[in-house]
Amino acid sequence: MESDRPVTEDRLVNPDMSPLESEDIGIRPTRFADYIGQTKVKDNLVVFIKAARQRGEPLDHVLLYGPPGLGKTTLATIIANEMGANLRVSSGPAIERPGDLAAILTNLAPMDILFIDEIHRLNRSVEEVLYPAMEDFCLDIMIGKGPSARTIRMDVPPFTLIGATTRAGRLSAPLRDRFGVVDRLRYYNVDELVTIVTRSAKALNTTIDAEGAGEIGRRARGTPRIANRLLKRVRDFAQVSNNGVIDYATAKQAMDRLEVDALGLDAIDRQLLLTIIDKFSGGPVGLDTLGASISEETETIEDVYEPYLLQMGLLQRTARGRTATIKAYEYLSRAIPSHFSQVSRQLSIMDIGDDSIDIGDDSIDTGDDAAGIGDDVVDDAAYETGEYGEDNTDADKDRPR
Ligand code: ADP
Repeated sequence: MESDRPVTEDRLVNPDMSPLESEDIGIRPTRFADYIGQTKVKDNLVVFIKAARQRGEPLDHVLLYGPPGLGKTTLATIIANEMGANLRVSSGPAIERPGDLAAILTNLAPMDILFIDEIHRLNRSVEEVLYPAMEDFCLDIMIGKGPSARTIRMDVPPFTLIGATTRAGRLSAPLRDRFGVVDRLRYYNVDELVTIVTRSAKALNTTIDAEGAGEIGRRARGTPRIANRLLKRVRDFAQVSNNGVIDYATAKQAMDRLEVDALGLDAIDRQLLLTIIDKFSGGPVGLDTLGASISEETETIEDVYEPYLLQMGLLQRTARGRTATIKAYEYLSRAIPSHFSQVSRQLSIMDIGDDSIDIGDDSIDTGDDAAGIGDDVVDDAAYETGEYGEDNTDADKDRPR
């Protein structure tokens, strides 16, 4: 019988962690010194942690946002280590009722760090318990029902909340405002990924040369989790056919066989772009229609595929839906339609094949991170790709909000 699991689960370049993945053992950095890249975020945290420790106070609450696999959980672990504090881990969907959160909070020890992954998925009634806990380290507990109901206040130990989300725009304003530190994690550039791959190879006792690491870094979609996953699969090929040594030829051959191309796109990415180009004349096409055409959930398209395709300039979100860019036509060797102007053709020709495909370029910075989440309705993908504030009023009628 055919499995009805979503295709994404088997996807090698899926940045979400699979439950079976024991990737982290020995690979996940535990100190800032081993945490590659994200320099601005790291440098500021080092100062905040030092200051908090000097004062003997817990660190202010921290919100980390960005696409999956970029190091949010790792950063939370490191913050706990550097603070010399215990890390308690939970997630938005796991905390169903206010009582669940009250139980977690009252069981914390002073200075503990509570990490809530997917914090945008907390429901409102749970969130409301969090507000006084974050602000005043207390809980308002309702006792009784009806006219005789009353609330009593209970203290909770001073703690730090670290929230992680791929969807900063879905966070309610009152919750967002209670975080003193808000940091956006970016896609990594190739050099950073090469460093990560080289370090992970060492932890896995695998021999890799600079060219081999370079090839994996280039195809890792700017994402450490994918870099580590590719490394492990390439290691399998190297073990069977090259005495366990990963060089350029082995890495390239392995990833070609795994259908991860030179830009890190896999078969589903290419199918998504080709569907827009071939079936919908390049777009615009609404998200639901696109999802139905490639048999994928709209949320998966938004969270997993789009951020990277947008980042690479292969896809655009416009007021009327998704469109393929001229770069996508060129990359996928499709004839460029006449509606692309001469100027954009020339710009694109200059673009392809040079460093513009190097991801993690600061020019996509939205500027002030904290200021980036001022509005209630924020387009998440635009958020991640630095398009926030431009034409991102995606008016897809069918788009879930
Ligand atoms: P997220 O919580 O954002 O989904 P994780 O923190 O779980 O991502 O990171 C995924 C994996 O990538 C980790 O196991 C870790 O080994 C690796 N990783 C992430 N960020 C870095 C980094 N900055 N330096 C080195 N390795 C990293």
